[in-house]
Amino acid sequence: MQLFASTTRATEKWLFSITSVMVIAILIVIAQVTSKNHGGNYRPTLYSYQSQTGVEFDQIRALSEDSWAEVDNPASFGFSEQVHWLRFDLASANTAKNTSYIEMDYPLLDNIDVWIEQAGEQQQIFSGGDARPFSQRPRQYHGFLIPLPDSEQPVRVYIRVSSTSVIKVPVTIWQRVAFGQHVSSVNLVMGLFFGLLLAMGLSNLFFFFTTKNFTFLYYSGYVVCLGLTLATLHGYSYKYLWPEQVWFQAKAVSFLASATLMFAVIFSSALLEVRRHSMRADKYLKALMLAFAGLTVSSLVIDYAISIKLFLVLLTIVVFLIMGVVIWLSYRKIIIARYYTLAWGALLISAFSASLDNLGIISVNVPSHVLLVYGATIEALMLALILAIGYSRQREQMFKAQEDALEQERSALEAKQALIDVQMRSQNELEYNVQERTLELEIALRELSEANRELEKLNTIDPLTGIRNRRHFDKRVIAEGRRSRREQTPLALAMLDIDHFKQVNDQYGHSVGDACITHVASLLQEMLKRPSDDVCRYGGEEFVIILPNTDIEGAYQLIESMRQVVEQSPCHCDGHTVPLTLSGGVASAVISRDEGHARLLKLADERLYMAKQAGRNRVVANPKPK
Ligand code: GH3
Ligand code: MG
Ligand code: MG
Repeated sequence: MQLFASTTRATEKWLFSITSVMVIAILIVIAQVTSKNHGGNYRPTLYSYQSQTGVEFDQIRALSEDSWAEVDNPASFGFSEQVHWLRFDLASANTAKNTSYIEMDYPLLDNIDVWIEQAGEQQQIFSGGDARPFSQRPRQYHGFLIPLPDSEQPVRVYIRVSSTSVIKVPVTIWQRVAFGQHVSSVNLVMGLFFGLLLAMGLSNLFFFFTTKNFTFLYYSGYVVCLGLTLATLHGYSYKYLWPEQVWFQAKAVSFLASATLMFAVIFSSALLEVRRHSMRADKYLKALMLAFAGLTVSSLVIDYAISIKLFLVLLTIVVFLIMGVVIWLSYRKIIIARYYTLAWGALLISAFSASLDNLGIISVNVPSHVLLVYGATIEALMLALILAIGYSRQREQMFKAQEDALEQERSALEAKQALIDVQMRSQNELEYNVQERTLELEIALRELSEANRELEKLNTIDPLTGIRNRRHFDKRVIAEGRRSRREQTPLALAMLDIDHFKQVNDQYGHSVGDACITHVASLLQEMLKRPSDDVCRYGGEEFVIILPNTDIEGAYQLIESMRQVVEQSPCHCDGHTVPLTLSGGVASAVISRDEGHARLLKLADERLYMAKQAGRNRVVANPKPK
């Protein structure tokens, strides 16, 4: 980008040099062509007389010699409502068979009448001016051209001039041949000049259509209006564009000049981007632009003498304001403003001095319209250059802004990607950790549930005998009670109690007593056949036996055989042989109510009591089986 910028700057300098060379070359050509005197012409000495309107030629002719005062040629009277008479003498109207022409190269004069006096005879040879249609002129010349009669005698010429605009009368006497040469060279230069302006106007109009950048349109409007203004000042517009429109010709200069300045102001404001630098200056320029727009419109209505004066006032303000702005911007190192200062300087100085010259405030040697051509040429070329530079800079800035935006977008995307990566990584890590923890948790839970099961089991084991305890029985009897009720199968319960155990304790001591309880428990356990059968220590030397799906007879037989086995298997412990017997109560029923199992147990307990009562070492199952 830096490289691009510096190459652009180098190109700009190069372009600037080329334009400067072009400008100088064109100026030299114009100067050469306009200043080259082919000879065959001279400016006669003029005498003037000022009168009111309505004074006739005869009265003027009768004036005494000292009423006339010598004036400069070109005679310049500024804004004047008076009628001005000019008089000059020619030694001969025709030299060497070459007709003489009177040329007055100031095309804006409203009324001109010319009389000649030759050999005591007077004759009006011209009556014309801006206030009459161009087509009525005897010679279709953009200025005023009056051929003198073909006579070699001395001649006195009287000119009467009046005009609403500035009155300026440059009188040149031409030999016909020399005049032809002069006209062709001037036309060549003017053709080139207007061609240049037209080309600039059109090309910038096309630039506007292709780029939609309004600065090009303003410039195009400016250049075209400037060209038209200068063409009007030179009389070309009246000759070629509106030869019949007397009314418009009277207003054309102030109309076109105001439009030119309107475009110039809006163009300058847009090109220099004044808004970006100073809101106040921008506001002033806008106000001036509107003022010129207003003047453009009103110049068609109000008097030319007034509108042109208003224009000159506004022009003076614009000159100072724009020059002030561009000098200020140049000071702030805005390069375009520096070029602009040069461009506008050229036109404004020339326009200003031309205006002052026209008003008769100063006198410039070069004809004012030629002066304007100089200024306009320099300015139009320079402005086109500046416009090109400004546009290329804008594009450069736009590309740079686009590149910056792209760069920002790229880094934002990168940051986003990095964030996504980090998120992904931490998510993966998190998922891995969660999985790990879940696994650990599952293992711990499994271990815990195993431990729980173990604990549960331990909780239900009687520590002395190793068989199930009462807690287990309480749960189991409820479950079996439900099953019996559901499946309508008989549930048998048996309560067993070791007989006279107190005596065993008393006789052998508690440890032998413990061993006896354990001995009985294992005997009972061994005798259970079905996996669903269960023996539990109910407390002390009491046992309870659950026999699901067993009727009273089956239960009685099993318990009875248990009693017999215990009776036949005394406990051997600590060198003692302890004979043991037990009593039992058996009950069996299909459970039909919620608390049925409790009633069944109570029944078995009652029968145990009955067995004890009946003398012990027996099993009671009422109704007693046969
Ligand atoms: P009965 O024939 O009427 O059942 O007479 P008994 O002596 O067995 O009477 P009872 O059931 O009232 O007494 C039970 C005795 O068993 C009381 C207690 O000394 C003894 N005993 C209870 N639990 C244990 C135990 O865990 N170990 C030992 N060694 N003795 C116990
Ligand atoms: Mg007991
Ligand atoms: Mg007992």
